[in-house]
Amino acid sequence: MAGESYEEAIAELTKLLSEKADLGHVAAAKIKQLTTELVAVGSDGFNPDERIRSGFEYFKKEKFLKKPELYGELAKGQSPKFLVFACSDSRVCPSYVLNFQPGEAFVVRNIANMVPPYDKSKYSGTGAAIEYAVVHLKVENIVVIGHSCCGGIKGLMSIPDDGTTASDFIEQWVQICNPAKSKVKEASNSDFSEQCTNLEKEAVNVSLGNLLTYPFVRDAVVKKTIALKGAHYDFVNGAFELWDIDFKISPSVSF
Ligand SMILES: [Zn+2]
Repeated sequence: MAGESYEEAIAELTKLLSEKADLGHVAAAKIKQLTTELVAVGSDGFNPDERIRSGFEYFKKEKFLKKPELYGELAKGQSPKFLVFACSDSRVCPSYVLNFQPGEAFVVRNIANMVPPYDKSKYSGTGAAIEYAVVHLKVENIVVIGHSCCGGIKGLMSIPDDGTTASDFIEQWVQICNPAKSKVKEASNSDFSEQCTNLEKEAVNVSLGNLLTYPFVRDAVVKKTIALKGAHYDFVNGAFELWDIDFKISPSVSF
């Protein structure tokens, strides 16, 4: 009852149980459930274990158990059509934004969705993912998706011309797309925010070019068994732009 004090509620429960002792086990179960819920609420109202547990419970009930055929097929193997590069940014999950179902997209996520050039010692993690997707899974499309308000791109744009950096990893990583930064800076005197938006797209083109430094990607492109696509997801305006590797020849489409 609204406004009722804790003491009053306990007194009422105690009175009820003294009159109806057989309700004791029901009350015990409910109190246990309440205790669990209160622990879950915690001091700041967020319990990570509970969030993960309830998230999986929802997925299992609403998705996993409702599509036994799909999950039965996926248990045998995967055959995704897409290798997707997306930013680690929590707002741009490609499976969520593009409604990819399990098994549809092999996804690499990193700061500012960058594809580094072929380098066995420096970028083996990315190289392994590309090799696996192209050589073993034989994906038919590689899509690099940039996005609006990208912190990694803003970081690249903010590195001073003398190259001074302050971070352990971030700035070195995002400089993979330095050629795109130079192009954007040469192309216009627009304000910083507009330059960042331009760089979000130009960096995708540098990544598409870097994909061609991987011999197995190059071979697949030459044989036309794989298509390289650039994209930009604008979560401020709810828009998505998609273009083929040669930006100038293939006009982009927006939706
Ligand atoms: Zn980003």
